[in-house]
Amino acid sequence: MNTDVRTDRPALDGDPAEVELRLREQVAACTLMLNEQGILGYSCHVSARLPDGRGFLIQSFDQSRAALTPEVLLVCDPDGRMLSGPDGQRPPAEVYLHAEILRVRPDVNAVAHFHHDRTTVFTLADGPQLVPVKNHAVRWASGIPVHRDPSHVNSAERGRALAHTLGAHHAALIRAHGQVVVAENVAALLIDCVHFVENAEAMYDAVRLGPLLPLNEEEIAMFQQDLKRDRHVAKLWTYYVGRARAQGLLQPQWSL
Ligand SMILES: [Zn+2]
Repeated sequence: MNTDVRTDRPALDGDPAEVELRLREQVAACTLMLNEQGILGYSCHVSARLPDGRGFLIQSFDQSRAALTPEVLLVCDPDGRMLSGPDGQRPPAEVYLHAEILRVRPDVNAVAHFHHDRTTVFTLADGPQLVPVKNHAVRWASGIPVHRDPSHVNSAERGRALAHTLGAHHAALIRAHGQVVVAENVAALLIDCVHFVENAEAMYDAVRLGPLLPLNEEEIAMFQQDLKRDRHVAKLWTYYVGRARAQGLLQPQWSL
């Protein structure tokens, strides 16, 4: 098996069956770690694009996000229809959120949707809008749009509307509902979700101390100049995987 020279993680190229197995292990691990972090909850989901155009991996409607294994993940086609999965399982109601974003964003290979209360609160008040205040939130310097329809994204039409709101950005809020974070791979998605919630919680605290001082354009440019995204993702993925392994959260045979 090839390995990624920066991280020693298995590279995601080569035999499609091998790639799918690695992606299954990454999605299961990412889900368990985000659940442990209090970011995902009982009805949130993580998806990953399969490289052969078949569609994507995602949790089913019923599978617990706290006890997920690679083999129980569903394969859905690009329209969100289940192609394979355990008997009796079905895609989550909001599978269209994933399908429609992956359809129009070729730069995105992994999507997370969750309902984190402290982050959602920024859509509930006529107060400050969520903006980058912490250094790693420069990831969202282009903006964090708010989708105004609080409905479940349970149809292709609603999925397309949300993908339109997201546009070329890397995250969006759904009013009175939750968040969407997108990234180029599953490891980057985990780290972005952690930083996205950290930024929201920091801003929630900061606005109570005094007038907000969000990162300005100069500060964002300075931080971006030094940031090595691949290296940062690899470092934090190693940290969170190591922590989760020590907690017994991840199965030892998973190649992460
Ligand atoms: Zn939702």
